[in-house]
Amino acid sequence: MTRPTHVTLYPDNLRHNYALAKDRAKGPVWAVLKADAYGHGARFCATELAVMADGFAVACVDEARALRHFGIQQPILVMQGAYRTSEWQDAESLNLTMMVHHQDQLDFIPPQLGQIDVWLKVNSGMNRLGVNLDDVDRVLDLIDSHTSLNLTQVASHFATADRHQDVLFRQQQACMASRSWPVQLSFCNSAALFNAADIADGVSRPGIMLYGASPLANQSAGDLGLKPVMSLQSAIISTHEVAVGESIGYGQAWIAERPTRVGVVAIGYGDGYPRSAPNGTPTSVDGVICPLIGRVSMDMITVDLTDHPQARIGSQVECWGVDVDVDQVAHLCQTIAYELFCQITPRVARQVYQA
Ligand SMILES: *Cc1c(COP(=O)(O)O)cnc(C)c1O
Repeated sequence: MTRPTHVTLYPDNLRHNYALAKDRAKGPVWAVLKADAYGHGARFCATELAVMADGFAVACVDEARALRHFGIQQPILVMQGAYRTSEWQDAESLNLTMMVHHQDQLDFIPPQLGQIDVWLKVNSGMNRLGVNLDDVDRVLDLIDSHTSLNLTQVASHFATADRHQDVLFRQQQACMASRSWPVQLSFCNSAALFNAADIADGVSRPGIMLYGASPLANQSAGDLGLKPVMSLQSAIISTHEVAVGESIGYGQAWIAERPTRVGVVAIGYGDGYPRSAPNGTPTSVDGVICPLIGRVSMDMITVDLTDHPQARIGSQVECWGVDVDVDQVAHLCQTIAYELFCQITPRVARQVYQA
């Protein structure tokens, strides 16, 4: 028997979520596929979206090169731009769109470079990457004077777009509205597409919503009309009973308060199931919610089957996806779905759902 631990991917749901983003956006929508498409597989996601996506965005040139090798023809934005001279040459040969977030990136452009589309990243209050408002005119002039560079968008990124009435969110919008720009503005990540879709007519850059997790703190993915693209699954490989007072697993992190039927599931932090998941974290065993009990091990977790007598060795377990909301698991682990998705390890097999 091969290990039952696997991810099932739902291509129709990915396309549904992209279409939803497109409905909300005023302009083109470039799907963010960085970090292996948030752990969903960049090749899978790019290929499935290729029929409909206006473009794609990744963090670095290496990720963009992989997409070109998979046959992607659409524009690809490299959101951190060039790290060194050779990457400007890569951008030319791979026909990439490069973010300019710092003036120094213009200093190492090689001579005799061909035409390259660039976006200027402006810092409006995130204070991570981007040119400050005071320096914008100078950098715009530098880009303008470069015969190779063709400015197509001005971009900025929000720190608190998940909170609708947030002060910084409004300050960032006001900052970008405080002057005129020579090209369209690219603002919207997933959260902004729900909270402020009207603020920019340039390219939107949704990531997390494409994968069916909620970008908003106070609304579930289902409420927003999003559908899960990943289901993380395994199976029960052993069952047994423990008496009142007995503990389970490392550190005696759970102690039975009633006679308990325990199921051992073949998944653990070695697969990317978070070790921080506390007692009570929901799992779905053949469609019935059963709580996690005891500490997460490298290759196993233990769940309480007492109230699910039909469960047996071989029963299917979902850790998150269709029955179990990934945002709920993330919340219990004091993290976000982005991180849970990205942590899935290469050991986990992947299969595409066939209806
Ligand atoms: C990751 C990223 C996005 C996508 O953000 P989501 O919250 O996943 O929608 C958009 N823009 C930039 C600059 C990013 O780094």
